[in-house]
Amino acid sequence: MIILDNFSSIFIANWKLNGNYDFIKEYYLKLSLNPNNCVVLCAPSIFLNRLETNETNLFSGAQDASTFIKGAYTGELSVSMLKDNNISFCLVGHSERRNHFKENNQIVNKKSKNLIDYKIIPIICVGETLEQKEKKMTKEILKKQIEESVPETANFKNALIAYEPVWAIGTGLTPTLKEIDEVHQYIKNLDKKFNNFKILYGGSVKPENSVDINSLKNVDGCLVGGASLKVEDFNSIIS
Ligand code: PEP
Repeated sequence: MIILDNFSSIFIANWKLNGNYDFIKEYYLKLSLNPNNCVVLCAPSIFLNRLETNETNLFSGAQDASTFIKGAYTGELSVSMLKDNNISFCLVGHSERRNHFKENNQIVNKKSKNLIDYKIIPIICVGETLEQKEKKMTKEILKKQIEESVPETANFKNALIAYEPVWAIGTGLTPTLKEIDEVHQYIKNLDKKFNNFKILYGGSVKPENSVDINSLKNVDGCLVGGASLKVEDFNSIIS
């Protein structure tokens, strides 16, 4: 069982639809871990059984899982298959899945519940769009997403939440440091159950801003997309 509280910060690399065998080989050769931090590499599913874990502070993650456990669901990948492949974490409800694949909070909840049942840690992603931010709806949107997406069985030991403003993903834009810290604090105070949850920030994290973001009181780590594709940049973020 991974004890999330053992780490001062948690860093997730989301490679999205990128990478090949050479990329993975070189990545592990160059990856430089900091013993205090937990690092999770989330690869495309076909590469999942090539991921390495040291069971101490380097783990492997999937980018999605099926709502179904088994059966006639062509193309799907179940949580039991992830477990068989030694996968410890899985992204759920990433905005790209919510947007392109029409995943709603109920689907995210079901996937997260399945993962928890199989002792895989879901990284439950939430975040507002630019339009919602401009209408000052951020807190309302996050409250609904969290209340509906986080299953009853989730707690600070078996699940993570990632705050990823949709407008910050892959754009080079980020909220101000004050905004990030306030939103994380808001999530932790939404309910007693969330007080001790680890909340990660995601959205255009790069070597230039990672230290400031990760030093915020209510930020427990980062979810990194684009900058995780260059191992040198990711090394600098996780150091
Ligand atoms: C992401 O994919 O979750 C992400 C945060 O991407 P980027 O770091 O490129 O904004």
